[in-house]
Order: sequence, then structure tokens, then C-alpha cells
Amino acid sequence: MVAQESNVDVLIIGAGPAGLMTANWMARAGINARIIDKRSSKIFAGQADGLECRTLEVFRSFGIDGPWNSSNHMQEVCFWEPDGKGGLYRSARIPDTVKGISRFQQCVIHQGRIESWFIESIEKTSRGKITVERGMLPVSIEIDESKISEASAYPVSVLIKKLDEDTALPDQYGGKVANGLFRAFEGDQEKYYSSVEPTETDSSFELVHAKYVVGCDGAHSWVRKQLGIEMEGESTDYVWGVLDAVPLTDFPDIRHRCAIHSADSGSIMVIPREHGVVRFYIQLQETPRDPETQTESEKSSSSASAKSSGRVDRSRITPEFILAAAQKIFYPYKIDIRDVRWYTAYQIGQRVSPTWHKQLRVFIAGDACHTHSPKAGQGMNTSMMDTFNLGWKLAHVCNGLARSDILETYEDERKKNAYDLINFDYKLSRLFSGKPAVLKDSESEQASSVGSARISLQEFRRVFEMGKAFASGCIIDYPSSLLEYKPKEIATEVVDPEGGTALVTKYISPIATNVPVGMRFDTAQVVSQSEANPHFLSDLMPSDGRWRIVYFAGDFKDNMALTDTMTDIAAYLDSKDSLIKRFTPQGAKSDSVIEIILIHASPRTAVEWTEFPQAFRPKDNYGREDFWKIYVDDESHHNGHGHAYKKYGIDPKKGALIVVRPDGYVSAVLPIGADSLAGPVAEFFNKFMIDVSTRKADPFERWDLYGSDEVVQPVLAL
Ligand code: FAD
Repeated sequence: MVAQESNVDVLIIGAGPAGLMTANWMARAGINARIIDKRSSKIFAGQADGLECRTLEVFRSFGIDGPWNSSNHMQEVCFWEPDGKGGLYRSARIPDTVKGISRFQQCVIHQGRIESWFIESIEKTSRGKITVERGMLPVSIEIDESKISEASAYPVSVLIKKLDEDTALPDQYGGKVANGLFRAFEGDQEKYYSSVEPTETDSSFELVHAKYVVGCDGAHSWVRKQLGIEMEGESTDYVWGVLDAVPLTDFPDIRHRCAIHSADSGSIMVIPREHGVVRFYIQLQETPRDPETQTESEKSSSSASAKSSGRVDRSRITPEFILAAAQKIFYPYKIDIRDVRWYTAYQIGQRVSPTWHKQLRVFIAGDACHTHSPKAGQGMNTSMMDTFNLGWKLAHVCNGLARSDILETYEDERKKNAYDLINFDYKLSRLFSGKPAVLKDSESEQASSVGSARISLQEFRRVFEMGKAFASGCIIDYPSSLLEYKPKEIATEVVDPEGGTALVTKYISPIATNVPVGMRFDTAQVVSQSEANPHFLSDLMPSDGRWRIVYFAGDFKDNMALTDTMTDIAAYLDSKDSLIKRFTPQGAKSDSVIEIILIHASPRTAVEWTEFPQAFRPKDNYGREDFWKIYVDDESHHNGHGHAYKKYGIDPKKGALIVVRPDGYVSAVLPIGADSLAGPVAEFFNKFMIDVSTRKADPFERWDLYGSDEVVQPVLAL
């Protein structure tokens, strides 16, 4: 017997980036959720710092603008290489972010601040109902198999121990400077609590019954271990130190991102950060080893070789130790540091979990599913994108809007990306860690054959450059599934967007030639018909759990065919069997599950607001008209023309219907018309959505989906 028992729809274990993203979705969708973490505080310094374009787009979609506004934006990458005379020279400068891939560029700010913005957003959106519960350690997890097919059951039981303040405090080596060298309880719950039996009177234990559990508990994931899942992959021998500090140096590119290869002393990645801080990723040629794990001959050797087989003794790695390695690599430039903010050391392990869930009731995400080197700036981003993918699906199922089959798409969509990431990281980290051929550009191409340990720096630059599109997170292409309508008729061979000459298959309809199905719906500026304000289309589709059907109505003024189509679509939307009516609970606003956004291509001033059928400017339960559903691809007064139709490859004489998922990915591209909506679009939704037309909406629990009584206006494109 346990003193306390409770029920919750979603229990999130771990409040790092992956867990906080899950909680953020739960807050937006009004789900009864809890998020627990074994540590008594969030991280205050260090760890991840790179934010990729897609992550920034997602933050914007949640209205979280702190990271972009407060971070250091990185514009340029410089490559430095041995000059063959004992020095270094700058071999190339390239833009840090692929031009035009996103409205944002790669930027950096430390993970602790990102977590703070998340926590603020979660508490505000959930109106204080969801908050990180710290010092909470799960000690057992059980799935009641007899209940997993019941939608309303709570089949997963997690026993949680509330830790006292001292036990939950993350321990550190050193003491003076914050570091990431050690954390209390790295996955060792069993050691401390497996023998503990909760009693009826011990109020530090709680048994939580959950519909779903999401394990976001990092690389040493306890949840993953409980599910019996072994990671697959390998560790490299290379040991890297990380230092966040203010540099004192004569190196000219210290405020650019730099990849520096020295001839024989290792490599450095320089990342300019906020407030004059710079992060250094420094290859450690020599590392202190734990004597207990070394052979006799290694113990007696005076050199602390990086290749020694003993376990790295991280307690003996200090900022001074890491700096000394950096000084050798920077030579002949001088470098010293002040204001050390954080440091750590790590060995690169490239691993992926072969399974990401158990019976679609317990999921794992983030570092619990994949680990790799941090230099490509992917871990935090990919971890958040995992649960950005999973969160809305869980919310749909918990809200009774969709069948649980959609949860299967989580692993299918995200695991492929994790493998792609490991492949990319494998190439990049070996080229970055390898010893370069000490040759100038013209000769460097042959370098890989110059001796087995030597790598070609030209090859390193090529892999780096090609990897930028992948690293941005903007070219992910989710496979055909319940949520991705990819008929073979629109399969198109295109040149691989990651560079090179290889052809890859994309699903591109001739109706919208720049809107591949499966990829994120890119943004373009449009102008509101009602107010003449410029907006980014992506800002009209915030992450609030809704589907969007974007109706590109074309240049319909004086075009009878397009005008008739608009009238037909309006009549369909008003009909009692329309997909909007079937998938929206009774009494909820008509746009609370699927929103229709109309973008036309006639001159704005040639059309009156009231010419548009009422279906496209719906009224809420108080009779207030929605003025933010109709836009035009036209010149704005102060922000120019967005040329949205051109950008998306849509003919203004024909138009297009684009179905966009709640996470902003394109599900389908179809011709305009009531037939399309009643036919393929309705069939698409029928496969996973639940007809809720007879169910009464609950405006109080599901406030974001159905209940907001404020008029919400979209943000402007400034
Ligand atoms: P974590 O951030 O590890 O969070 C896990 C959380 O779960 C923690 O709060 C932990 O306390 C908690 N927890 C663990 N076990 C339990 C348990 N049993 N019960 C309850 N709570 C538990 N990524 C990038 O994208 N860009 C970068 O530039 C970058 N640089 C990095 C630099 C360094 C030096 C390091 C170490 C990492 C870097 N990363 C980077 C990686 C990034 O930090 C991780 O990929 C990211 O934090 C993973 O997020 P997560 O939420 O999956 O796990």
C-alpha cells in the first residue's frame, strides 16, 4: 500500500529540453499532465547552446521569442588549418546558415535560459496547472497489459519517491566553477531504492497511474532501461573538453564560429556566445585516466595518452587543463581566459535506441533515444523536435479527437531522423577529430591517401557545408503514413537538398511545386484583407493543436470559375456533414480543431471584406466575427510584397488546398474545390480522427482548444 495515489493523463519524466517541450504541448492543449525531475534545480550554466532554424521557428510558433531576441546570432564560419610552417591560416569563410532556408539563422544561448523560457510558457499557458515537480525520483514502472486497449484507462503505474533537498541537489566536482562533470543519480535508482518498500504511512512515496508516460530522462534514461531497451552504436576514443569563458586573445576570428585544425595538437570549435563569452570545444590529446581501470604498463607510463584504454578520470580535468590543450592548438596565436562560466569533458558516443515506445503507452524521447557529439549543435534541437512531434499526437488522443494509431507515426518519423543524424555526426566528428594532412588547399584533396591517420581538410569543409541544411532541421521529410498523404503520382525525383548530385524522391504536386508533402510548410509574407497588416503565414498557424487547411483561392476577382469554387467550398463548410462539423465537438468554436485560412491573389483593394462568404469569416459563440482568416498575396504599405504564390509554386489561376498538421508539416496538397474537401481531404481525416459531432465541448478543461473568450490577433511581420 502506498500513502498517496493519483491519476494523470500524461506523466513526463525528466525536465530537460525534451520533457519541457512535451509539457509545453500539454499546456497548450489543456491536457492533465505532470512533469517530474529527480534534480532539485534546473541547470544554470553550460550544456547545449546552439539553436537551429527549425527550433527557432517552433519557438516562434509557441510565442517563445526570448531565445531569438536574447541569443548571439552566428553569421559566419571560418576554417583555420595548418599552414605547413608550424602556424595556422584561414582557409575559408562561409555563411553559418544556408541562405534563405528559414526566416531565422543559427544562434546560441545556454540551455538553462532556454529551459527558463519554457517553464515560464508552460506555467502561463496551463494557468499554473503544470509546473516542474523537482526532487521526484521514479523507482518502478509497470504496465497493466489488460488495460492498454481501453482509451479511458490508466494502464501505466509509476511509483515515485520524493527526495529530500540534499539528495536531489546535483553534485559537482571542483566546487568553484559550475561544471557538467558529474550529476547525482545518473540512472542508478535501483542502487538506492530497489530495496525500499513504501509503506502506508510514508508520505514521500506516491503511486501515479498514467494513461501515457514519456521518458525524457536523458542519455542514461532510467525509463529506457525499465523497458529493457538497449542502445545500439559505439563510442569513439576521442575525448573533448568544453569551456565557456571570456577569452583574452590575439586570434582575429574569436567572434566568429571557427573550426580550427592544428597540425599535431588536435582541433577546436569556437562558438561566440552572448555577453562576450565564447564556448570552446577542445580536443584533449592527453587525458588523466582512472588508475583502477588501467593496465599495469599504462599505470607506469608518464604520458596520459588520449588513446589509453583506462576510463577517463573526469575529476582531474580542470579548466586549466583544458586551456593548456587549447593554447597548443591556437599556437602561434595566444589565448588566455577570464570569467570561466562552465566546463566539462566528454567522450563521443554515437548511439540510437532501436525502439522508442512500449505498447504505445510508454515513450522515450530526446537523448534517451539518441546520443552523438555536440559540435553539430543537434542534441538539444533534435530532442525538442522529438517531443514537438509526439506532443500534439498525445494531446489529440487524450482529448478524444484522434485514434491512438497516430502515435505509431512518432517512432517512424523521428527514428529515421536520428539515424540520419548519427550518420552525419559520424562523418563530421571523425573528420573533426582526425589529424589533418599538413598541406595547402591545392594538395589537400589527396590527403586521405597520405597516411591512414590523416584526414582531408577539404573533405571536412565539404561535409560541414553539405551538413548545414540537414543541421538546420528544415529539410526533414516525414514518410508516407496515416498523417502524410503521399500518392505515388506525385513522387518526383529531385537533386538532394543536402548537396551533391544524387537524386532523392520528394512528393511534390504540380499544384504547389515548392510545397513538398512531408516537409515543414515554409513561411511567406501575406497581407490581412481586413487590416492591410503584413504577417508571416507561419505566425497565422501558431502551435495550438489545430489542423489548418490553407485555401489558396487564386486571383478570383472577375474569374467566374474561381468565384464559383469559393461559393461551393463555403456551402460545403456550412453543410452538416462537413469535415469541420464532424471533427469539432458541439458548442466549440468552429475553428477549434480544423481552421480554414484563405489566401487569395486578387488585388486587395479590388475586393471588399463582405464579398467573402461567411464560412471564411466565422463568428464565435458571442457573435464576434473573425477578421484574421482571410489574407492576400499583395504589396503591403511598409513591408514590400511576399510573393507567396510564387514562393509556393502555386498558379494564381488555379489555386491549391494545403493541409497542414498541428506541428506545421504538410500532410496533403490537393486541387481546390468542394469535391477535394468532401473527397480526399475528408478521407484523409477519416482514417485517424474521431467523429465528435455529438459530443459536448468542455470549455473549462480544454481552455485553449475551445474556451478562450478573448479575441486573439496574430502577430505582425516586423
Ligand atoms: P537532458 O537534457 O539530459 O534532460 C534530462 C532530464 O531528466 C534532466 O533534467 C535530468 O535531471 C532528468 N532525469 C534524468 N534521469 C531522471 C530520472 N530517472 N528521473 C527523473 N528525472 C531524471 N545540443 C544541442 O542541440 N546543441 C548544442 O550546442 C549542444 N551542446 C552540448 C554541449 C555539451 C557539453 C553537452 C553535454 C551537451 C550538448 N548538447 C547540445 C546536447 C544537449 O545538452 C542534450 O542533447 C539535450 O540536453 C538533451 O535533452 P533531453 O531533454 O533529452 O535530456
